[in-house]
Amino acid sequence: MIVEGSILDRDGPRPGFVRFRAGRVIEVGSIGADGGRGRERTLRGIVVPSPVNSHTHLGDAVSVREPPPEPVSRLVQPPRGYKFRLLAETSRAEKVRAARATLLRMVREGVAAVADFREEGLEGIRLLRTAAAGVRVRVLVLGRPTARPIDPDELRAVVRAGDGVGLSSARDESPETLEAVARACRRAGKRYALHASEAVREAPERFLRPRPDLLVHLTKATAADLVAVRDANVPVTVCPRSNALFGRQPDIAAMERLGLSVLLGTDNAMFHAPSIWRELEFAYVSTRLRRRPVSAEFLARAVLVEPWRWLGKPEAARVAPGMPVPPLVVRLPPDDPAYQVVTRTSEPLIVRPSPASADPR
Ligand SMILES: [Zn+2]
Repeated sequence: MIVEGSILDRDGPRPGFVRFRAGRVIEVGSIGADGGRGRERTLRGIVVPSPVNSHTHLGDAVSVREPPPEPVSRLVQPPRGYKFRLLAETSRAEKVRAARATLLRMVREGVAAVADFREEGLEGIRLLRTAAAGVRVRVLVLGRPTARPIDPDELRAVVRAGDGVGLSSARDESPETLEAVARACRRAGKRYALHASEAVREAPERFLRPRPDLLVHLTKATAADLVAVRDANVPVTVCPRSNALFGRQPDIAAMERLGLSVLLGTDNAMFHAPSIWRELEFAYVSTRLRRRPVSAEFLARAVLVEPWRWLGKPEAARVAPGMPVPPLVVRLPPDDPAYQVVTRTSEPLIVRPSPASADPR
């Protein structure tokens, strides 16, 4: 099969064709080059790396109701906020079913990997591993120890079972807890991540020391805070729909202008459909409410390129023979591919050259 049109990947947008065999890329060329096509099935469209959803709370999928009219800090406040009461009241089987259904929806939309903040300690990690078993998406589980002060045995078990730790926020934790968690993650070669400056501004020295591998939100960060994050070389996942639901907006245009590495996530599954394409469109359109809009190309990178770099698989973000994760084809007009992909991708337009070979591990 040949896809003719354009390519949008780590190297930017460009016209071209991609030849697939058995679901794998075997040739990439420019339009007009002699690709020997003629007898092969030819589609028109845009070839992109598989997208990544870089921040979710899959356990939250147990509820799809309109949230009560409370500030988000109260709704998701451990251990007794609305979200944590719901999680405590729901059976394990129901949580597994809901998380699995959410992951299957992501697979239908072409998502190849997801980074999840998983609450409920060691049991929460096991629950998500059960939900993700056999589902064709890589789930990076950032677990959370429950005991405060930190119980070293629990922390060790959480770090061993998960892919790292994702904490609520620096202001919810003591400096000793942040230090212990970061050290345990580093020692095990795993990731230490946390929410930061979501509902209120936090000083960068609070969440940058010890240095995290990923920050989420930064809706309340000042330009100087963003510079500190950039200089510390810490990537940031933004979740514009989640923030907007509670009347906030990350300044993605400032992040682009200042040169941060930005990723995109759909956040709490109880508040939003876990669709990275809907997140992309909203992210793009909502920055128009500010004076400086973000570019479509920057947002496309936040889903197709930056997360693969963060995951240590930069080759998955470049459409080429031998790429470790097969790309997707989006059946959209090939002109201005970044704008097309960011503003109008939806599930029916997505073609996977070969579902059977999509193994992102
Ligand atoms: Zn979150």
